[in-house]
Amino acid sequence: MQGLMQDWPLTVEKIIDHAKAWHGGREVVSRSVEGPIVRTTYAQIHARAQRVSNALLALGVQPGDRVATLAWNTGRHIEAWYGIMGIGAVCHTLNPRLFAEQLCYIVNHAEDKLIFTDLTFLPVLLENRPKMPTVQHIVVLTDPDHMPKDVPGALCFETLVEQASPDCVWGGFDENTAAGLCYTSGTTGNPKGVLYSHRSNFLHTLVTMGSDVLGIRATDTVLPVVPMFHANAWGLAFSAPAVGAKLVMPGAKLDGASVHELLETEGVTYSAAVPTVWQMLLTHLRATNGKITTLKRVVIGGSAVPEAIVRGFRDEYGVDVTHAWGMTETSPLGTQATPNAAIAAMDPEQQLQFKLKQGRAPLGIQLKLVDDDEKDLPRDGHTFGRLKVSGPFVVGEYFKGEGGKILDADGYFDTGDVATLDEHGFMQITDRAKDVIKSGGEWISSIEIENIAAGHPKAELAAVIGVVHPKWDERPLLLVKLNAGETATKEEFLAFLEGKIAKWWTPDDVVFVDDIPLGATGKIDKKLIRDRMKDYVLPTAPAAAAPAVALAAPPEPKIYAPEPEPPAGPNLEAESLDWTPNAAQRIEPKPEPLVAAFPATSETKAEEAPADAEVPFPAEPATSAGPETELPPAEGVIAQPMFAAAPPAGRKASPGRARFADLYLKLAAIVAITPAAMVGVAFLGVQLNLLDRPAFVRLALDLAPQVALISVATGIAGLAVALVAGFNRFWLRGLLVLAISAATLGAYVVARSTGAQAPAAAPVAQPASR
Ligand code: ADP
Repeated sequence: MQGLMQDWPLTVEKIIDHAKAWHGGREVVSRSVEGPIVRTTYAQIHARAQRVSNALLALGVQPGDRVATLAWNTGRHIEAWYGIMGIGAVCHTLNPRLFAEQLCYIVNHAEDKLIFTDLTFLPVLLENRPKMPTVQHIVVLTDPDHMPKDVPGALCFETLVEQASPDCVWGGFDENTAAGLCYTSGTTGNPKGVLYSHRSNFLHTLVTMGSDVLGIRATDTVLPVVPMFHANAWGLAFSAPAVGAKLVMPGAKLDGASVHELLETEGVTYSAAVPTVWQMLLTHLRATNGKITTLKRVVIGGSAVPEAIVRGFRDEYGVDVTHAWGMTETSPLGTQATPNAAIAAMDPEQQLQFKLKQGRAPLGIQLKLVDDDEKDLPRDGHTFGRLKVSGPFVVGEYFKGEGGKILDADGYFDTGDVATLDEHGFMQITDRAKDVIKSGGEWISSIEIENIAAGHPKAELAAVIGVVHPKWDERPLLLVKLNAGETATKEEFLAFLEGKIAKWWTPDDVVFVDDIPLGATGKIDKKLIRDRMKDYVLPTAPAAAAPAVALAAPPEPKIYAPEPEPPAGPNLEAESLDWTPNAAQRIEPKPEPLVAAFPATSETKAEEAPADAEVPFPAEPATSAGPETELPPAEGVIAQPMFAAAPPAGRKASPGRARFADLYLKLAAIVAITPAAMVGVAFLGVQLNLLDRPAFVRLALDLAPQVALISVATGIAGLAVALVAGFNRFWLRGLLVLAISAATLGAYVVARSTGAQAPAAAPVAQPASR
């Protein structure tokens, strides 16, 4: 039987319709690319977006056509979004931090018909236009006064809007119609397009509006620093109009000073960005003794939030941080670390431990952890495995079937993240599967070390990568960008880490660098760091024994049971870039990103540098005056988890040995409990009159001590097996088996020496005479 409610397709133009109808006068404030602050309202955005739709139709855009935007967060960008989606065309957000050749690849793959661009990116688009044959029009998001002259084929946004008819019929299509397209950054293989539907965007909006999720309200003033080209600004360009919050759009200026200025002048209460942006803001505030007067909450995601940032906001500025996790493939919100009742009852320091986790799943998101055999893993807060996700706003397949089938048999998508889940359902990312450091057959979380190191008062940014080591496969290397004007020594940082991480996690070296490169979405670009550090040799590894090429080819980590594969041969890192036009380019240093390549306008020159530009990055390690780090991993040292699951320390084990040990210890456990079981079964059988007393009891009692002796021997051998196959992984089971056997034998010996007359011991003690 079908329900009898109205059929009301969940299409996103209804969001801006709603904002116009019920929050029409609410402001949308933008720092325009041209310079001045521009004020508009949801009603005006709605009216102008309808004109954009008409302009697009007039330019020949049809439903289903891909229309790209290459733009900062501004009111005009929102108008373009709703104008595109309202007529059933697909809004394709292009990331301007990509390199030109990546951009061309993506535009061609998407077959974009028209591109809306900010002035900032016009030169690079024009330069590459011949390589984008599907693009018929370029519309510059500016007014006639700022429109560059002599640019054949480029149209002025404001002129188009002014000339377009005001009335447009929006919607009227199926809610599963494609609404948006966003390419993942392509850290492995070609960039892949995630094709959002109206329904998935609408549902994502409803979910994120929840007060335990992003929880913005009509009374909030929201500053999305996270760009609309980065996973849809985490949905804020939908959820802010949906609730009627004031929107403040930061344009091209994402540095600490510019963000602070907007926070204060516009009375922002709520903001969202990746950790590096917040780190820049804190650095700015401390340097200028700046004040925060209206900001109450910030959402931090995209990469793990360092404790120092949460504490900085909380203790110095009274701002609450919500940590969130997600990815382009999850629309993007997957989890948020808002407390449940049990956590809310804890003291602030205990609560902080949960704030640093990535959090729990909202309605509509299902999470699971699996091992390499796809076996579900427990939610015990320390077992870690591959994180998988499913739900109505999670990717089902990539655009044009790129990458083939991406869901498992249960419909879950593998995130490529390694994580734990605890008893509160809080998920914690341990690492990206490709960044985890494999040392001596065990795993080291690069994220955890760098988050702690970033908390050093002298550090502005920190990154940890695995560097090849002849004995341990890989060892951690810490790279630190110091605050301006600071100097520091390796020893200071190693001492800072001491006691906060397991000893064997201690980096083998600390290198001070001018800058830590950020990727296209503002996260630390470890691939580039690995590439730049490929000739670097650890002080703990003799140069001859550490072939630099292996640095660029970290073996694919195994999940859960941390057993290393044989060393990888081919250069996986280089292969992963095979979407670039030719193989030779793969190993070339990367060209400057678009933003840096563009001759800066007066508005974008210096201010955007911190967020976008890459500055020199010396590959020379700092000279260390002090003693070298002692070489871990030390056997028997168990990692002290900070908040992440730390894999147990241990020696290198081969998968074959581990499997044998596993099987052997299972058998040994059976042997260990056999004597007790024999005696128990015999007595029970006699008690229940099921067995003939003399025959069975005698047999059981005769054989039990011998089996007990055998089981002790098996147990001792079990310890030896554990020692060889990975002592720290197997020692507990080996010891348990030995303890059971020894206890059984001990019971027998005690019984025999103290109670030869006792009914149970007598038959065993004198089997021959009975
Ligand atoms: P990309 O295209 O690089 O995958 P995304 O923005 O989709 O860009 O990145 C998603 C990935 O970012 C996640 O799979 C995860 O590894 C990382 N990530 C996102 N949020 C967090 C977080 N809060 N903590 C740690 N890692 C995160």
